[in-house]
Amino acid sequence: MPDCRQILVAESETHISGNVLFGENCHIVGESEDGPRGKSPLAIPERNRYPNLILLCRNHHGIIDKDPKSWPIERLHQVKSDHEVWVETQLTLGAKSISDQIYSSIANLAADRLLLSQWDAITDHAIRGLVFSKFIEGAVDFYVTVHRANWPGDKPQIELSATNLANRLQAYVEHYQILAFTPDGNCWQEDRRWKAKWRADCDALQDRSEKWSSTCIRLLFNLCIAINEFAAAIRFNLNPNYFALQGWFLVYDSMGVTNNLQETWYGPENYQEI
Ligand SMILES: [Zn+2]
Repeated sequence: MPDCRQILVAESETHISGNVLFGENCHIVGESEDGPRGKSPLAIPERNRYPNLILLCRNHHGIIDKDPKSWPIERLHQVKSDHEVWVETQLTLGAKSISDQIYSSIANLAADRLLLSQWDAITDHAIRGLVFSKFIEGAVDFYVTVHRANWPGDKPQIELSATNLANRLQAYVEHYQILAFTPDGNCWQEDRRWKAKWRADCDALQDRSEKWSSTCIRLLFNLCIAINEFAAAIRFNLNPNYFALQGWFLVYDSMGVTNNLQETWYGPENYQEI
């Protein structure tokens, strides 16, 4: 569970494997028809196999089984696959040289703070002008860290792509925050409170809003390209598994707000400068 991440094994001097497992193997589709999430065409023998199991701490096992409505099958599969991606990106922690450790920590910082495993959801909201506070805070943390970093200099492709990503993030966040605000602390949105009553300059404000919004989208596309370049640099120089499963990062518009209400995926390839 992303907010838990308790270690679920402990070293043991007496156990034959050298470890004891105290996490619990939980069933995604219930082990029997009457169990939590048990109503499923999945054959009974399949229910005890790896694809239907998720290792959780005791607390979270209790939570998902006592409240299966909040924890349906699809959500648990999502939690499990997000965690598998997270583990793959963390594997580089075993890096040997000091410089590889620095590069690995930047790669891990990007994965964690930019919520890269949720990139589709982030872009799908951003295209409608909504950005999670968690993403904004993470973006600021990432670009400040990169700007301050004392780079070792032996993998210039990583350093250049990380710096470019930091600049693209900063451009996006700073432009976005010109007209956006956060009413509840969780999510940012455009400040349209001026629309509540008529005012003499409302045409000018509307015009400003539209220009702002199209620049936000252009900067989001640039950001998407920068993420792909950074991920490719990490894959090529450090860890071939880095977001390899997820593949190319795209900009997702599920409601088609940019394309006549047709669901659309964009794969921007060239930076658009002003
Ligand atoms: Zn837990």
